[in-house]
Formats: sequence, structure tokens, C-alpha cells
Amino acid sequence: MPISKSRKSPFNTSNERGDDRLLQIEAVYDKVPVGLCYLNQDGAVVTINDQLSRLLGIDNDKAVGCKIEDIFPRHAPLLHMALLAARDGKIVPDGEVEVGDENFMVSAAAVVNDLGQFAGISVAYTNITELHRATRRLQETEQRTAYALENAGQWIWDLNIPANQVWRSPQYRVLLGLDPNAVEKPSVAWDILHPDDRAHTLQAFDNALSGRNPLFEAIYRIKRPDGGDTWILSRGKIVEYGPDGAPVRLLATSVDISMQKRIEEQLSSTVDQRLKLEEKLLTANRKLKNLSERDHLTNLPNRRKFSHLLRQTFGEAHEIRKSLAVIMVDIDHFKTYNDFYGHLAGDNCLVQVGRALNKVIKQTGGSLARFGGEEFAALLSVVSRDDAMKTAEQMLNSVAAMKLMHEASPSGLVSVSIGVAILNEDNSPTIAGPDDLLNLADTALYESKRNGRGRVSLWGSFK
Ligand code: GH3
Ligand code: MG
Ligand code: MG
Repeated sequence: MPISKSRKSPFNTSNERGDDRLLQIEAVYDKVPVGLCYLNQDGAVVTINDQLSRLLGIDNDKAVGCKIEDIFPRHAPLLHMALLAARDGKIVPDGEVEVGDENFMVSAAAVVNDLGQFAGISVAYTNITELHRATRRLQETEQRTAYALENAGQWIWDLNIPANQVWRSPQYRVLLGLDPNAVEKPSVAWDILHPDDRAHTLQAFDNALSGRNPLFEAIYRIKRPDGGDTWILSRGKIVEYGPDGAPVRLLATSVDISMQKRIEEQLSSTVDQRLKLEEKLLTANRKLKNLSERDHLTNLPNRRKFSHLLRQTFGEAHEIRKSLAVIMVDIDHFKTYNDFYGHLAGDNCLVQVGRALNKVIKQTGGSLARFGGEEFAALLSVVSRDDAMKTAEQMLNSVAAMKLMHEASPSGLVSVSIGVAILNEDNSPTIAGPDDLLNLADTALYESKRNGRGRVSLWGSFK
């Protein structure tokens, strides 16, 4: 666009060279992507560039000399204010105007003539439409982020590592019940940590700094203004490193997990209670089982336990053709013992006999039970005929060795009669099950009784 010759120069020029310079300046004046004009102190247009005249939809030549209210009345108040401020030597503030659907920043500066007197203002219209749009987009994004964070109970924090200063997004104040209107200023990082959680949180931070962990992650408590604690889960990442490679910035989010923690605690206390209850139940069950398998007088396994053990051992022995011995023991003349010494003394005698027999059986690795009344039964696995008989003799002798008085008995002392039966030693086809073995031992016991008591009989060795 050629320079309009009718345009009056704002510059006071007095020679040829000066005019040349002015022409050059005016050429640039028309090319810059900024609307420019010069207004004299009366608010009349002295010069206006093509950009601005096009923008305002006016003719260059016609505009020159016109008052601002005549050519851009809507901007007149702003420009008059600028004129006044400039005349008074005050700072001229920038203003904003809309032209069509575009936004412009209007900046003005005072112009003085060669005598240093106020001559008017030069005005620039800079198109800031894109800036406006970008700012709006940024605001919308920020609104969306803020909404998402607040709803998720989260806030963002940005840690300047060398300065140890942290900036937190406003949700931090909202979620912790702090004054939401107060501006969050950068503060010293980690001050908010609960003392008990300080060590492991700083360790996690250290691991992220050193690169041992790619991320920072920690669960810790922070103190709320009401005195309570809030459980926090923080996750972050080093997002900036210095020229020396040292971490400079950590960007992280924090989320309030107090609710989850409360549920976890309730759950774990419920689980604890359940475990304790189960433990009690197990102990009670064990006691009950023990009670149901023990004889309360002698504290030996009872008949029920013995039968169970016999069934189990018999099955195994039968399968692999291993020997198994049952030894039945019966106290001699026990009825008369009770009659003579009384039932309590009888009980005591039973306990002592049981103890003596058990001592012998324990040494063989077998089991002894109180079978019923004044009868005991022993079980010996994988035993030869000789060893079984030897054990039975030892049982007989251990009772005799106690020399318990039994004045109502022919021998004068407490004695026992014993019957022994062995599986897989006698090869007896009659032993098909555990009860058979018991019956044969009982038969052998009867044999001992029949032959005068106080002795051992082995089934199969008598007619
Ligand atoms: P034998 O030599 O033929 O075995 O004669 P016995 O008197 O021992 O036989 P019997 O079966 O006639 O008597 C057994 C007695 O054992 C009868 C019963 O009063 C007694 N007895 C059984 N259980 C107990 C107990 O728990 N305590 C006491 N004190 N006596 C018991
Ligand atoms: Mg008996
Ligand atoms: Mg008896």
C-alpha cells in the first residue's frame, strides 16, 4: 500500500534527509501486523496505518483530521482516558476492545514534540483473539481438571526439589478442610507428614530421586486442622532434571484414602476376632476330642481310642503282612479288692497298675489303654512273638514289683493275668479283623485265669 501523502506526519521534520527517514518509517508503519494510529492532544487522528483503517472499516484519507468519536465512537472513552493519562504524565493502562468477533489489546504511549511538550498519543491495536481463545481453552481445561480432581478426592502437587518447596492445587485445601479461598503458596515440602510416617515416606522419595524406583509412591498420614489424621496415597514422577542430571521437579497426585483405611481396619479387626474365635473353637474341639478319647481316672486312652487305633493299625499290618500284638490285662480278684479296701482304694489301685503297665509299654513304642473296668489292653506293632511275650512278662512283673497288698487274694498281693494274641506270627486264618485279634487275646487271658491267674498266656500255644 503506497504511503498516503495526505497523511500528516506526527514527526516534526525539517529537512530532506529527515523526510526520507520518515518515509521509510511510514513504509514499515503500514506493514506491521498491528493497527497503529497517532492522535493529537485534541483526540484527532493525525495518522493511521492501513491495518487499523481496514480493521475499523474506514478510509485512511478521510480519517485523518477526524475526531476519534466520529470514526471509532465505541473506542472513544478508552482512547480519551489514555489521552488524559498521557497528558498528566501517568502510566497509560492497556485496554481491550472487540472488533467483530476479534479481540484487540489497545496500548497507548505519550508522544512529545521537539520542545518536549505533550503532543498526543500513539496507539497500537494488537490482535489478541488467539491469546483469548487459548486462555479460554486453558481455563476450561483447568475447570475440568479441577472438577475431576475434586470429585476423585485428589490434588496435584509440584515439588521443586532443590528448593524443597511444594505447590499444591486448590483441591488440597478443599479436601483437608482448610480455607478454600486462601491462596496456596509454595511451602516447605514434607512438613505435613505425620511423624510416624516420615521415615518410610522420605525413603520412598529417596528411592525415586536415586532412580531405584521409577515412581514415587507412599501411603502416609497428614494432620488436619481439626486435629485428626487423614490417610493419603501419593504417587509421583520426576518430570524434570537439571543440566547435571540431578532431579529438579517431582509432579505428584495425592488422594485421601481415609475411608479405605477405616474399612481395612474394620475388616482386619473382624478377621482378627474371627481368627481368635476359630482358635478358641479349635482348642475347645481339641479338649473335647481329648476328653472323648481319655479315661478320666487313669488318664490313659480309653476303649474308644484303643479300638480306633487297633482298626487303623490292623488295616496297615494286614496289608503289608506285618506283625501286630494285642495284650489284654485283667487285675485278679479285683471285686474282692474293692470289697476289702473300698471303692476309692480300688480306684487308686487301678491308677497305680495303669501307670506301671504304661511305663513298660512306653519303652516298647506301643500303646496302652484302659479297656474297661479293671482291664487294660496294649497294642504292639511290628513285634516278634518273643518280644511280645517278653513285654507281657515285664508288665506282669512291673505290677508284682509294686507289691500292692491284697489281703483278700490267695497270693496276698495285687496281680494281673495276661493274654497275648499276635497277627501274622501265628498265621491264623481265623484272624480276619481287629475284633478277632481282641477276642483271641481275651481267650488267652481267660486261659491265664483258668490256670491260676498271675501269668501270661499266648493264644495258639495252648489247647
Ligand atoms: P478275676 O480275677 O476273675 O478277674 O476276678 P475279678 O473280681 O477281678 O472279676 P470281676 O469281673 O468279677 O470284677 C471286676 C471288678 O472290678 C468289679 C468292679 O466293681 C470292679 N471295677 C470295675 N471298674 C472299677 C473302677 O473304676 N473302680 C473300682 N474301684 N472298681 C472297679
Ligand atoms: Mg474283669
Ligand atoms: Mg479281674
